Amino acid sequence: MQKYNLGYICQPSANVKKSIAILGSTGSIGTQALEVIASHPEKFSVEVLTSNSNADLLIEQSILLQPNAVVIADEKKYHQVKTALEKFPIKVFAGDAALSQVMEMETIDMVLTAVVGFAGLKPTLAAINAGKQIALANKETLVVAGELVTALAKEKAVNIYPVDSEHSAIFQCLAGEWNNPIEKIYLTASGGPFRGKDKAFLTTVKKEQALKHPNWDMGAKITIDSASMMNKGLEMIEAKWLFHLTPDQIDVIIHPQSIIHSIVQFRDGSMKAQMGLPDMKLPIQYALGYPDRLKSTFPRFDFANYSSLTFEKPDSTTFRNLALSIVALQKGGNLPCILNAANEIAVAAFLKDQIGFLEMSDLIEECMSAIKFIEHPTLEDYIHTDHETRIKAKEWIEKKLTVIR
Ligand code: NDP
Ligand code: MG
Repeated sequence: MQKYNLGYICQPSANVKKSIAILGSTGSIGTQALEVIASHPEKFSVEVLTSNSNADLLIEQSILLQPNAVVIADEKKYHQVKTALEKFPIKVFAGDAALSQVMEMETIDMVLTAVVGFAGLKPTLAAINAGKQIALANKETLVVAGELVTALAKEKAVNIYPVDSEHSAIFQCLAGEWNNPIEKIYLTASGGPFRGKDKAFLTTVKKEQALKHPNWDMGAKITIDSASMMNKGLEMIEAKWLFHLTPDQIDVIIHPQSIIHSIVQFRDGSMKAQMGLPDMKLPIQYALGYPDRLKSTFPRFDFANYSSLTFEKPDSTTFRNLALSIVALQKGGNLPCILNAANEIAVAAFLKDQIGFLEMSDLIEECMSAIKFIEHPTLEDYIHTDHETRIKAKEWIEKKLTVIR
């Protein structure tokens, strides 16, 4: 088995059918992954499907795809799913612990982690522990506990294939370059719906405006993260762990057209970029099918429709989440975990109209200074940090709402 300097293990072209488990099959990534799988029945089969509380869609997907097992995290929905799937040979489980337990099923080859947020950490660790290859969309897992997750993957000889489009782009640029050191990477960002806006404008924005991403159709949380630039901050931390980079090797560039998905610069100064129309099915398919490029009918890029591709520097003074993420990236320890937990609570509160757009950064900054810093956290430390931060963040919101009332 050949190992590359980035820790990835060489894999021969896979002519065997892969059995896939999808953590979060009812979400934006999960449903697109099912489209990819459906168009390559000779390459993939569905072994496990999971959702949080969307029982109807989970049942519909299960009847169509006949997985071996399904899990619904929300235990209140167990009976609905169990009853609906009674006449099929499908095992039905419920609860958070079951999400991790099913990862041990021998028949699973690869796990696509498409759950949103911290909730993805435990099942992802369980899947790695069971030696399953990982296609990782759930960036929060690496943001929170990158050191632990990548160390376990190394120990278990598990590859973590990026699904996030920027990281997939970097991964694609590295094909054939595995032993050439990276000098720097540029993560591209569309800039979201508020690119170029100032703080005065941002104090007035509502969730309906923030949920309108110019180029990508995604789940609500990542769409708000994209509008606030937190998504790019999380992606910088994700890149650090996926590609073993130091903070000064990771740069962000605004590219409003979202055609160049990211860039690698090598030590001879040469740069490689990966391009294509913004369509998550492409990076999903690359991760599932690696090392093969599978045929697709996705729309192709037409140069005639794009007279220019443009680039700008990000504005981390207005979009403070980017600056806060860079602090967490540089300082490490449990600070990215604090950043992530505070952000999850902040986004949920913004979506409930409890706090304003810019207050999300105030809340995150407050948590980053209030919660105890731990330089070398254990898994228990991460779980505790996440819990403490959520309490602190909710208190902050409650205090603010009390003042308004
Ligand atoms: P969605 O909100 O669309 O879907 C999330 C999925 O996870 C759903 O299946 C949901 O179930 C399930 N889920 C949510 N919370 C829990 C929980 N507590 N326990 C178990 N399952 C849960 O998210 P996206 O598909 O947009 O994003 C998924 C991940 O991929 C995120 O980490 C995101 O950052 C990343 N990503 C997404 C991209 C995109 O284009 N969407 C692009 C790049 C990365 P239910 O339907 O029942 O709520
Ligand atoms: Mg991305």
